[in-house]
Amino acid sequence: MEQYDVVVIGAGAAGMFCAAEAGQGGCKVLLLDNGKKLGRKILMSGGGRCNFTNLYAEPAAYLSENPHFCKSALARYTQWDFIDLVTRYGIAWHEKTLGQLFCDDSAQQIVSMLEQECQKGQVTVRLRSEISAVEKTERGFNITLNGQDVSTHSLVVASGGLSMPGLGASPFGYRLAEQFGLKILPTRAGLVPFTLHKPLLDHLQTLSGVSVPSVLTAKDGTVFRESILFTHRGLSGPAVLQLSSYWQPGEFVSVNLLPSLDLAGFLNQQRQEHPNQSLKNTLSLHLPKRLVECLQTLEQIPDVTLKQLNPAQQSALVEQLQNWQVQPNGTEGYRTAEVTLGGVDTRALSSKTMVANAVPGLYFIGEVVDVTGWLGGYNFQWAWSSAWACAQDLIKMSRA
Ligand SMILES: Cc1cc2nc3c(=O)[nH]c(=O)nc-3n(C[C@H](O)[C@H](O)[C@H](O)COP(=O)(O)OP(=O)(O)OC[C@H]3O[C@@H](n4cnc5c(N)ncnc54)[C@H](O)[C@@H]3O)c2cc1C
Repeated sequence: MEQYDVVVIGAGAAGMFCAAEAGQGGCKVLLLDNGKKLGRKILMSGGGRCNFTNLYAEPAAYLSENPHFCKSALARYTQWDFIDLVTRYGIAWHEKTLGQLFCDDSAQQIVSMLEQECQKGQVTVRLRSEISAVEKTERGFNITLNGQDVSTHSLVVASGGLSMPGLGASPFGYRLAEQFGLKILPTRAGLVPFTLHKPLLDHLQTLSGVSVPSVLTAKDGTVFRESILFTHRGLSGPAVLQLSSYWQPGEFVSVNLLPSLDLAGFLNQQRQEHPNQSLKNTLSLHLPKRLVECLQTLEQIPDVTLKQLNPAQQSALVEQLQNWQVQPNGTEGYRTAEVTLGGVDTRALSSKTMVANAVPGLYFIGEVVDVTGWLGGYNFQWAWSSAWACAQDLIKMSRA
């Protein structure tokens, strides 16, 4: 039977980085994936340019039932460590916005870098691997893989979440955690567009492609200042994706379409200068004309001139545009979600090493764990940081 120090299940961001680090630290590592390519999500990420980390990565940017869990790993392997690695490989990068770092050329560069790191660690890679059974043994674990048994001292589960099933996502990690008695916190799609109810959808659909810088506020008070994008299914854009991770079905979302404007003051000043100007044309100075026209058909903007706009109408208008209450119908779900919220309950894991406290040798890293970052490179940073923390323990164990 083939024997390894470490078997890593899942050759995505976390799995590849962990395998490479452990291999370079002297462990004999086997890296498995059910797909036919390494790092498929990395290749798709950031519009093909991989938003590989964020300059402002910090624990406050992560959602988890146990918000302290991510602190240790993020502090020990930081965004600066990963930037250093990328720079050593000569990969050119730039900050797009809000600390989000992207490759200048292609996400393939990150996958190639991780592949080379794995080669340096003499990691054995097996793609198209179907794991049919995992059993605990005295030495560690026996894994039945494409009908053959492999034995390992340590097993790292890096099989990711449920988002984008077309890219190999599977509930494998959750089932394995349950097999060993670990709790799985309810999972749901995160960083995902909202769908809308009819008849609102019928009206807003006509705006498909229109983007508006906005401030969105969730029911729990979480605020994001980025753009929203109208789509033929509902609402998307960075502000919506961010807020979706904080949204529960049935809740309303507050949308401020004019976050940088004293709207009442602007209308009063315009009324003095151009009393016969239509409200529609006045608002079009600050909002896309198509949006103003659409909101008028929804009777959210009265069809009047500025001098006809009475104080009650003006207050209602300010509320309508700066605290627009939208109730999403739902989300587009795992098909388009960037991440999965929930997952392996971190209270069963060590925050220093990612090992399952009750099952020595069994580790969970990356998205399969109940740690989910904001949009903007935070999720990859969690993958790198959790993988690194795990690899340090694997190296220590193999030397013990
Ligand atoms: C379209 C898209 C764009 C994104 N863009 C960004 C971005 O720019 N920046 C950012 O920070 N985050 C981004 N994310 C999120 C980020 O990709 C994930 O958070 C990250 O990939 C998680 O890493 P992981 O290694 O835990 O899981 P994954 O990268 O999902 O890797 C898991 C691997 O496990 C394999 N696997 C699953 N089940 C099995 C099984 N039964 N047997 C064997 N192998 C299995 C899968 O094939 C996969 O290769 C994006 C996500 C999507 C979907």
